[in-house]
Amino acid sequence: MPVQESSPVPVRLSGHVWQVPFPTPTLPPLDHTNTYVITAGDDCLLVDLGTSEGRHLSWLTQFLRDLGVQRLRIIATHYHVDHTAGLPRLATQWQVPIHLHPLDHPPARQALGVTPELLQPAPAHVQLADLPVIIRHQPGHTHGHLHIEVPADGVILVGDHLSGAGTVWIGPPDGHMDDYLTALTAIAQSGCPVAGPGHGPPLNARAAALQTKERRLRREAEILSLISQRPLSIRELRQRIYGDSLPSGVEGVARRTLQAHVERLLDAGQVQAAWKDGRFLYSAEPSANG
Ligand SMILES: [Zn+2]
Repeated sequence: MPVQESSPVPVRLSGHVWQVPFPTPTLPPLDHTNTYVITAGDDCLLVDLGTSEGRHLSWLTQFLRDLGVQRLRIIATHYHVDHTAGLPRLATQWQVPIHLHPLDHPPARQALGVTPELLQPAPAHVQLADLPVIIRHQPGHTHGHLHIEVPADGVILVGDHLSGAGTVWIGPPDGHMDDYLTALTAIAQSGCPVAGPGHGPPLNARAAALQTKERRLRREAEILSLISQRPLSIRELRQRIYGDSLPSGVEGVARRTLQAHVERLLDAGQVQAAWKDGRFLYSAEPSANG
């Protein structure tokens, strides 16, 4: 007999917010992406849906029905398909648009193959019955990345800016490291105790944001120290930092994250780039590390 996949297990984060982890094809070691369901009265705001499988959509429809949802609004924290693959079907089913920040519309159209009319700009504020929800543009992981805040419940949904499982990657062309560090500060200062990440269980918002920021700054200091010893390419940096320890499949995103760090250091004038033998070599004055 085939093994029956168990149903999703929703986790109640607060009076109005549910976290529902759905199995999704995503980067290892991750294998689930969280959908969030925010309800008040018979209004609902649904955040992210990375699965497009019929049985998951049927389960979700029943879950929404059980919560008494009559009016559904849909928003995505960012366009990546492990957060959006199921949204076109859900939107068609409920005859509502998908809200995304306009900077994420062009890649979303391409990734999801949807008509422009299905995508709408995310509003700054959504009122669900008596519950205000605040939507903030907070680029970093993508240029149109959003944070969704339910101040009454002290919950902030942070998409791929924090992870409850594995690490977050930030890299060009979507990602920008300086924006990302700003987004982490915003999470830490949001005043919300609970963060709902795109993957993994809920987190202590302030502690997770500060730890993640510290880890990124430590990595940046390590990069600066390595290239102040001698000029290195991104490939060489990757080898120095990770050796052969990277699981297959994350090699590309590790390189892109290093690239994002180097670009931030270039912007700050702490690093120089020189084109040599078909690649960029990055260097820094030893004193820059001081
Ligand atoms: Zn993502």
